[in-house]
This record gives sequence, structure tokens and C-alpha cells, in this order.
Amino acid sequence: MVSTSVASLRNVAEQVVLDRRHLHVHPELGFQERQTSRFIADRLRALGIETRTGIAETGVVGIIRGGRPGKTVLLRADIDALPIEEENDVPYRSTVPGVMHACGHDGHTAILLGTAQVLSERRANLRGNVVLAFQPCEEKPPGGAQAMIAQGVMDDPKVDAVFGLHLSQELPVGTVAARPGPIMAAADMFRLEIAGKGGHAARPHECVDAGLVAAQVMVALHALVAREVNPLDPAVITIGMIQAGTAPNIIPDRALLRGTTRTFDTELRERLARRIEEVATSVAAAMRATCVCTYEWGYPSVVNEAVSTAFVADIARSVVGEARLVERDQSMGGEDFAYFLQRAPGCFFNVGTRNEDRGLVWGHHHPRFDIDEAALPVGVEMFTRIVESYLRG
Ligand SMILES: [Zn+2]
Ligand SMILES: [Zn+2]
Repeated sequence: MVSTSVASLRNVAEQVVLDRRHLHVHPELGFQERQTSRFIADRLRALGIETRTGIAETGVVGIIRGGRPGKTVLLRADIDALPIEEENDVPYRSTVPGVMHACGHDGHTAILLGTAQVLSERRANLRGNVVLAFQPCEEKPPGGAQAMIAQGVMDDPKVDAVFGLHLSQELPVGTVAARPGPIMAAADMFRLEIAGKGGHAARPHECVDAGLVAAQVMVALHALVAREVNPLDPAVITIGMIQAGTAPNIIPDRALLRGTTRTFDTELRERLARRIEEVATSVAAAMRATCVCTYEWGYPSVVNEAVSTAFVADIARSVVGEARLVERDQSMGGEDFAYFLQRAPGCFFNVGTRNEDRGLVWGHHHPRFDIDEAALPVGVEMFTRIVESYLRG
């Protein structure tokens, strides 16, 4: 232990589990986290922490000003739940029908509250400031991160470095992973509205079959990743929605395709966006139809800065030991912590929650998702040591 008293951490560990369970019982969807927000703000104020509410609607920001001047470090927790009906039979099961903390954000929030408690007790010894960002709505773009940043969460005091964590059901409990570079993909969405000419199924020569055009567009778009992207650059185009037609004997006049693009590289991201529109409109034109493409830019890629990531890895060695600092794969999933990392160097790392022996194996966003809560104090200790060590310089 560097500067952490064992007794104080043990008390915090118990509190963090209670907090996580409280939040798990009362989940709220993105930008509707009113009770969650009040719970966080009440706790921060009770700790004597300067607290700002209503940031990006339901976000909360706590500011711990250290006893001596220095740098400012931001820690972030996302606080929203998902539209999923919980299937776990546990005492802390969700009481809100159709809403569940199935991604672990209840844990993130509890970890940051626990960290707030430890750091507020040691505020006199801190050289610099800590910004505690409780962010609403991570799960649904445009998300809460951009809005919090637009409202100045990184400006006053000016933030020098940002750190965030995600609990991970892919990694065993007791482990931590910190990977440098791009770790999560840019996640965009697109919408293709195809217009042809409808009519009788038996008179195709008088029609322009929007359904067939949609099928050709879909096939053509799948050639983009296969034939125009370097196989060493990760990229995904998925068309998850196809809508056309009302009856088997009517040729549809309209069709709708909706999909998502995942990339790490910015140039590739922009190129695919351009090519999706070019290919879709050209294929439609070749078949005498029209196609209107709407491309919605989503979260950018999460890119961990190298020095900050090496620093987090060092902290992880001291918290869980060298053997439990593990590798993680890049993920094609999206995460709006990316916006914080665009504004300041930092690292988004993972804390393992998986426990095969206890059957805690269901993945994120699954109705039976549940975590090994032994991961929570690991998160608190990681955050606490990151701050103390960073501010010591
Ligand atoms: Zn999620
Ligand atoms: Zn999540």
C-alpha cells in the first residue's frame, strides 16, 4: 500500500457493493437518470465535495481541490442502464420493468463514488485537483460525453489527463487490462432510402422493383470491406435492417436499408462513408431507381495514449500483480469515452468481473449479465492510486 490505509479501503469496499446493488435495483435509461443523479449528488455533498448537477441534463460533476496546487485529473463513470428485462434471480434484481444495468455501469458509478470517498479523506495531501465526471447516456449516441465536454467539464479547472474504466465480463475477476492505441472502434450508422416504381407482380416490366434494388445494393456494399479495405485494417459493414413490400403480389416502390460501420482508422472511416453513398446511389441509378443516403457519424475510436497507458499498467502491477495484468483484444464496439481522450491524454482500461465457478459468465447486454463484485474494490484502488500517483508527478 502506497498511501492507502487498509481499514479505510475495507470500509469503502463494503460501501461500494451496497451502492452498486442500490443502483442495480433502480436502473434508469440514458438522459433519464434522475434518481441516480440525485443519489450521486447527495453522496458527494455528504463528503463535502464541490458538486455540480444538471450537466448534460442528468450528469453530475464533483470537484476535489487538493491541499496544494497542481495538475487536474478527470475520472469518468457512465451511469445509464439498458432497455432489457432482467432474468437474474438475485436479491438486488432490477425493480424497473424492462430496464436493467446489463453493462456494469452501476459498478462504474459505485466505484467512482468509493474513489470520491477515499480521495476526499486525503484531500489535504493531494497536489492538484480531481474532477469526478458522472456521465449520463453512454449506451445511445449521441451520448452524454460530448454534451458534458461542451458544458465545460474539462475546462474549469483545466483537465490535464483523463482516465476511465469498463468492467469486463471477458476478463477473469482480479485482473486488469490496459492496452495502448486504438482499443474500440468508431461506430457510425447509415440509412439508405431507395425509391423505384411499384405495381403488379405480374407486370414487372412496368415497374422499378425497389426490393430487388435494395438486394443489389446490399450485395455491392458487402464488397467494400472485402475488396477495398486492406485486410490488415479492421473494418465492419453490417446491414441489420431491410424493409420493403406489403404483399407477395405487389412490387414495392420503396425500400429501406439501415446499417452500421465500424473502423479504427480515421481515413478509412471517412472513405467508407463516402463509398457507401457512391456505391448505393450508383447501383440504384443503374437499376433506374434512386437512393438517398443519410450517414450518421457516431462515437469516434477510443485511442489510449501510450505514456498514460504504460502508467496505468504500472499502477495495475502494484494493485493486482504482474501476473494479473492481462492482454485484451481490440473491440469493434463503440464507447463515448473517446471524446474525453480526444481532448486530453489518458487511458480507458478494463477491470475483470468474470467468475466461471459462480456462473458469472453472461456477457454485457445479456438479460443474465451479472458481475463478481470482488472487482469493485479493485476499481476503487486503481482509480485512487492513478490519481495519487499522477498528481505526485
Ligand atoms: Zn454497454
Ligand atoms: Zn458499457
